[in-house]
Amino acid sequence: MLKLDNLTADVGEGDGRKTILNGLSLEVPAGEVHAIMGPNGAGKSTLSYVLTGRDGYEATSGTATLNGDDLLDMEPDERAAAGLFLSFQYPVEIPGVPVMTFVRAAINAQRKTRGEDEISAPDFIKKAREIGQKLNIDADMLKRPVNVGFSGGEKKRLEIFQMMMMEPRFAILDETDSGLDIDALKTVADGVNALRSEDRGMLVITHYQRLLDHIKPDRVHVLAKGRIVKSGGPELALQLEKEGYDGILGEVA
Ligand code: ADP
Ligand code: MG
Ligand code: MG
Repeated sequence: MLKLDNLTADVGEGDGRKTILNGLSLEVPAGEVHAIMGPNGAGKSTLSYVLTGRDGYEATSGTATLNGDDLLDMEPDERAAAGLFLSFQYPVEIPGVPVMTFVRAAINAQRKTRGEDEISAPDFIKKAREIGQKLNIDADMLKRPVNVGFSGGEKKRLEIFQMMMMEPRFAILDETDSGLDIDALKTVADGVNALRSEDRGMLVITHYQRLLDHIKPDRVHVLAKGRIVKSGGPELALQLEKEGYDGILGEVA
């Protein structure tokens, strides 16, 4: 499904330009949820931006494919239409635009890029109601402007709502290193678990082991200095929690 081979990438412009990803290889087969952990500044967020094609993040060598399609050759909207979804580490507020309008526009933009018809209003409303119920989001919240005045937990629930509405082929969740309380952690975990399916892959980027208590990843990878330095099962996350990154990095060196 997602296959990264010897990926290198630079960030920044002019004198500030530097190489962040340094020969990163990773495979996430369809049906699996993998976690990426790693110290601050290792390049975890850079990886998600390179994959989604954010401005200023440039792959310089290696390959990245999704179901065999070359991601690096696609525009960001084409990557989204191919089913790649990235959660927002820092959610933006969009005054004046209700959640329902925003999510419907996002779904239709993808459908348009794929050459498909728009989702009908009744279908959209039915789906929004079902997913909203699962996530404990009431109808009033979906009528409010995107993220304006939302609590941290509400923003998180909205993000997962959006992910579930988009039905991505491959989802990347880049979780902030702080500020996720236990309810928000559970919201993220419930969303990931609800979306698990045999034709979908997910990559959960996290600094802390505790999110993985609720998700149970198939594989855990440690990203350090721009590459995957170690991979293992869920027990690797527990080892990291106990020994810290220094232990693992010393072992690898
Ligand atoms: P992580 O998510 O693992 O904490 P990041 O990918 O955010 O790490 O950052 C990796 C390194 O790249 C850091 O040293 C960071 O300062 C640098 N970096 C990230 N984005 C930019 C940018 N737009 N311009 C310059 N440096 C950047
Ligand atoms: Mg960070
Ligand atoms: Mg980060």
